[in-house]
Amino acid sequence: MEKKRIAVIACKNIKGISCVGGCLKCFKGMAEKAGEYERWKDYEIEVIGMDDCGGCPGVVMPKVKLLMEMCKLFDRDVDVIHLGTCIKVATQTAKCPIDFEVLKKMIESKFKKEVILGTHPY
Ligand code: SF4
Repeated sequence: MEKKRIAVIACKNIKGISCVGGCLKCFKGMAEKAGEYERWKDYEIEVIGMDDCGGCPGVVMPKVKLLMEMCKLFDRDVDVIHLGTCIKVATQTAKCPIDFEVLKKMIESKFKKEVILGTHPY
């Protein structure tokens, strides 16, 4: 089975410090290939890394740059970056300043990685 190597970026405000509660949903979604992970139902999913946006107003570009540098350093790579369902919810309900379409274009143009908004459906 072909593999998709995934990195997840979460909303720092929603995720929390311990990462247990929020990311449990992401891991469940991956295991069940549910929500935005459903698109990978014919693939094996490998989680390469998880990080957050750094906090409001969102420093996703520097975070992705760091992630790419770490990937290179440890000879790991990602195929696709998912911005968490938490970021999607934050933009829809909490005046999150991240403009997904602008950010997606910036990441895809600078780092040549596919970017998807959303992760788990819970
Ligand atoms: S910038 Fe958006 S995604 Fe990041 S902590 Fe603030 S509300 Fe959450």
